[in-house]
Amino acid sequence: MSYIDEIIGQVIEKNPDEPEFHQAVREVLDSIRVIVDANEAQFRRDALLERLVNPERQIKFRVPWLDDQGNAHVNTGYRVQFNSAIGPYKGGLRLHPSVNIGIIKFLGFEQIFKNSLTGLPIGGGKGGSDFDPKGKSDREIMRFCQSFMSELCKYIGADTDVPAGDIGTGAREIGYMFGQYKKLRGLFEGVLTGKGLSYGGSLARTEATGYGLLYITDALLRDHDIDIKGKTVAVSGAGNVAIYAIEKAQQLGAKVVTCSDSTGWIYDPDGIDVALLKEIKEVRRERLTAYKNAKLTSEYHEGRGVWQIKCDIALPCATQNELTLDDAKLLKENGCIAVCEGANMPTTEDATKFLQENGILFIPGKASNCGGVATSALEMSQNSERLSWPFEEVDAKLKGIMENVYANISAAAKKYGMDGNYVAGANIAGFEKVLDAMNAQGIV
Ligand code: NDP
Repeated sequence: MSYIDEIIGQVIEKNPDEPEFHQAVREVLDSIRVIVDANEAQFRRDALLERLVNPERQIKFRVPWLDDQGNAHVNTGYRVQFNSAIGPYKGGLRLHPSVNIGIIKFLGFEQIFKNSLTGLPIGGGKGGSDFDPKGKSDREIMRFCQSFMSELCKYIGADTDVPAGDIGTGAREIGYMFGQYKKLRGLFEGVLTGKGLSYGGSLARTEATGYGLLYITDALLRDHDIDIKGKTVAVSGAGNVAIYAIEKAQQLGAKVVTCSDSTGWIYDPDGIDVALLKEIKEVRRERLTAYKNAKLTSEYHEGRGVWQIKCDIALPCATQNELTLDDAKLLKENGCIAVCEGANMPTTEDATKFLQENGILFIPGKASNCGGVATSALEMSQNSERLSWPFEEVDAKLKGIMENVYANISAAAKKYGMDGNYVAGANIAGFEKVLDAMNAQGIV
């Protein structure tokens, strides 16, 4: 059996009940087969793949907190410090009831290669909790975040591990966590990114993942002589990534006709009113039914369904495995030309394969959504030099990074005879740098 297949088998056996982690490992290892097969003896001797798929450290802890009635609750907190070969661990904190160690490991593993692709010196990590922020009061959120950080603060720091936001962790949660870190450690340092502008945050960080997604989508289309202007776009999600993807798509002249949340979705044939969406989701924190009520020409549907709408470009920006094989077939039937992932692993394995085999341009999340973490790394740079760069400067750097990522994944795919396979290109380009650093640092 090949070394790669042996390791995939080991991962499944040693990490049962973690299908998302298996999926992420399988996808990456399959793509780097050409490199591993060519160096199999040396990689086996150095247990290179075992070291790649086993986190350097994983931390699991109790998070007790009090609700507004004085009742105690306990959630589970996680931080997986996966790989620090190229820099301090970096990756978000997800607060969602679906969080478990397998989800955090899948996200942390993906983060290694994503961070490498940015070209910036950041290693891979991820964390979070099964806490559900929905329906909690502001004070309950604060007490949860403080309790979470009371434990997490022992393991993180500006030069060791720098967490950020993710699903359920936005500017408010980062603020509460930063306050608690500062109180307990007595350090005002860049230990978290996604901070508010008044205490060390970076301009353009809020917009970065969504904007970055559009910069790379535009680069992809231009490379195939297609103009994004005038194209119809379907977006899923109505959170941070989705909102700023919609905003930038519109700025580039495309028309975005859908968005969704975990209860339903909107079809707005006139184009999504992004100012209204921001007001509903960022300020009032309401469901998408409020959009329909405010914009009577739009349609609201319960459940999921954005991929049945005819579009040229599909941007899944909600969560993992939300675009299935049936959805991929519908997109193809409706003439879709490109799918670029805003969320992490939103396309199932069989759907990805179908899209690639049917000539639909496809960029995986680790490349297309890396603008968020790249800008987080720019926030770290600004914190280190105690300066704050103008919006235009950060945005221009972000655009340059995304164009570079596209060029690199495209070149890596070509180099190994898989022209246009951006999944392989992203995994190979991300892996090569990590491999080089791991080899240089010895067996650690
Ligand atoms: P948010 O919490 O801001 O938004 C998530 C959106 O997806 C919400 O509209 C949410 O609906 C919806 N959603 C979440 N879970 C589900 C589900 N199980 N089924 C259907 N809809 C769901 O998160 P972000 O926008 O920050 O993140 C979205 C994705 O992008 C995630 O995969 C994240 O890991 C990834 N990502 C985010 C980055 C960032 O900078 N924020 C960077 C790179 C990747 P509802 O509000 O109803 O829960």
